[in-house]
Amino acid sequence: MCGIVGAVARREATPILIEGLRRLEYRGYDSAGLCVENDGALQRVRRVGKVGALVAAVADMRPGGTVGIAHTRWATHGEPSEANAHPHIARQTVAVVHNGIIENHNELKQRQERAGYRFTSATDTEVVAHEIHHYLSDGASLFDAVKHTTAALRGAYALGVISSAHRGEIIAARQGCPLVIGVGNPGDEGGPQGDGGGHECFIASDPLALLPVTRRFIYLEDGDIARLKLDGLYIEDNQSKPAEREVSVSTVKPDAVTKGAYRHFMYKEIHEQPAALAEMLESRVTEDRLLEQCFGPRAAAIFNRAAQARIIACGTSYHAGLVARNWFEGVARVPCRVEVASEFRYRHPVADENTLIIAVSQSGETADTLAAVKGAREMGFGPALGIINAPESSLARECDLTLLTRAGPEIGVASTKAFTTQLSALLFVAVALGRRAGLSRAREAEIVRQLRALPRHCEAVLQLDGVVKKLSPRFATRQHALFLGRGVQYPVAMEGALKMKELSYIHAEAYPAGELKHGPLALVDNEMPVIAVAPKDDLLEKLKSNLQEVRARGGELFVFADADTGLESADGCAVVKLPLKLHQLAPHVAPIIYTIPLQLLAYHVAVIRG
Ligand code: GLU
Repeated sequence: MCGIVGAVARREATPILIEGLRRLEYRGYDSAGLCVENDGALQRVRRVGKVGALVAAVADMRPGGTVGIAHTRWATHGEPSEANAHPHIARQTVAVVHNGIIENHNELKQRQERAGYRFTSATDTEVVAHEIHHYLSDGASLFDAVKHTTAALRGAYALGVISSAHRGEIIAARQGCPLVIGVGNPGDEGGPQGDGGGHECFIASDPLALLPVTRRFIYLEDGDIARLKLDGLYIEDNQSKPAEREVSVSTVKPDAVTKGAYRHFMYKEIHEQPAALAEMLESRVTEDRLLEQCFGPRAAAIFNRAAQARIIACGTSYHAGLVARNWFEGVARVPCRVEVASEFRYRHPVADENTLIIAVSQSGETADTLAAVKGAREMGFGPALGIINAPESSLARECDLTLLTRAGPEIGVASTKAFTTQLSALLFVAVALGRRAGLSRAREAEIVRQLRALPRHCEAVLQLDGVVKKLSPRFATRQHALFLGRGVQYPVAMEGALKMKELSYIHAEAYPAGELKHGPLALVDNEMPVIAVAPKDDLLEKLKSNLQEVRARGGELFVFADADTGLESADGCAVVKLPLKLHQLAPHVAPIIYTIPLQLLAYHVAVIRG
């Protein structure tokens, strides 16, 4: 789901639109287009590929006019092509740009075809343009036509709409996808709403796109519809009531990725996780359902064929795969194997064309993962789905489907927000495949609700920062540490151990707690701190016995536990209670949440050790 820019300006709109699109390129896209209204006519330019190609076309065609909308598209319905690129136009009158997914587009399309509308694209978006046209021809204002139209839409959308018959205005609407209004003329504090002051105004799916023209933004809320005109801005909320929305002034530095108030990038990125997770979910879920089209137009056919999954990754991404295997098999009932890419590519696995390859990589440039995906194709495995943070990466080009994790730039070498967003992306895949393996609607709804609450829960767990920091001096002089978990939390323990060694150079190992008695217990003494992850799940009682074994050998315990496990701090045992009863609130996403205190621990220990 990609980029929207729009302008109601006093100057030529096209340069503003192009600059805005360029600033949204980081999100990845397959085509770009714009449409300006000029003397009551719509002029549209669209191109497959880079914004650069659009710029070249614009230079030839010179679309003039002060009002316009523009888009970068990440196809969900219909292949990337010029005909499918936005804006979509209905009967030369209405032009629409859309981010998101219209779930009931088929229904609307059938009705519109019966009413004589002809379709020129395979997108879900085109129905929006025709529907608005339908209401306009009944005599509605552009604002009302959009309002009637959005009332008929199901799914997630941000929309920008212009009309040749309604000069000088943009109508914007959002439901489940981000959209901001930029208020022009900085320095004029008169207030933009309805004051007739003659402000330029803009729309964008990300304020970054508008920083060259304004720093003043109104963040639309779900259900809002806005009319942008030079002589005033008008917003209605989802109850059709005029809405007064606050104007906030952005302090973002447009070009530099900075540490802000944080001492290190990693620390900043740990704290960015609630926002990154919210961004990952944006426009990909409804209240209770996954919008499967977020995987792209080819996803349904590919998922229908996938009888099992093979996750291929390295390092932290490999741990994400190991967590996900529990979801694929335990929740979705889809057979799943997870492999280290550098091993997979050099062994001779038995290929199976019905196995979906899932490649996980933050950068999308991990050489072993990339080679493994190419190798899997040659060996005869099924199509590849990439879970990737960097949209412009080699892996994104190599894979048949891509789900971007949208964590934003990760500068810290030790991966944090990339990991937790990868996990939520993998849970998406588990749901999509699970649907085909009998995952019930109710179970899906429960998972989606837990995903939606995830940013909030992570925020709550980040409040433990001070507590974890206080514990960290106790690790500062240690040479070794043991991390324990069971079930889905075992890979979380592995990830905790990896962070600890990577950052603090303390030798750290993770074990499934039940394995302790089969050897590693011999290493435990008062020099060996043991860190355990203890949610209140059906393995808790077993884990408690494992912890007794550690105490019996004099090992110092650090336990991260649900609020109500009954575990209490005592001599030689520090219990850090999460401020949540995760087993009630969010059992499916608990591994994502439990990762955070372990990241904090590794970070604070590393800082102490210099
Ligand atoms: N669903 C629309 C399409 O496939 C919009 C995609 C987007 O958000 O870029 O054209």
